[in-house]
Amino acid sequence: MGGWLDLLSDLISGGTKEPKPVPKIEEKMCPVHGLELRAGRVPIEYGLLRYPDDYREASASFPYACSKVPGGCCIDYNKKYAQIRYCPECRKAEKAYWKSKHG
Ligand SMILES: [Zn+2]
Repeated sequence: MGGWLDLLSDLISGGTKEPKPVPKIEEKMCPVHGLELRAGRVPIEYGLLRYPDDYREASASFPYACSKVPGGCCIDYNKKYAQIRYCPECRKAEKAYWKSKHG
């Protein structure tokens, strides 16, 4: 018993073992654009970062822009740059967002 038939029935049953049908994203892919995230280095911004009121909402369409890293209490103040992963399409979307803000 067992073997590939069991495997096949698992596949047909829709992966009942997994709670979600979508493949798990572990910061490897952008969920919005489906692109592989790229490694990058961005400056850490300390102090208060000011964003427009709708930024949070808008940023849902570019979750991995990661163009800035807000410096918080958990970040070493001697550090000027942070290693991040970003999606190039998210960057573009974020850029377009800022452009729409500032004209
Ligand atoms: Zn993206």
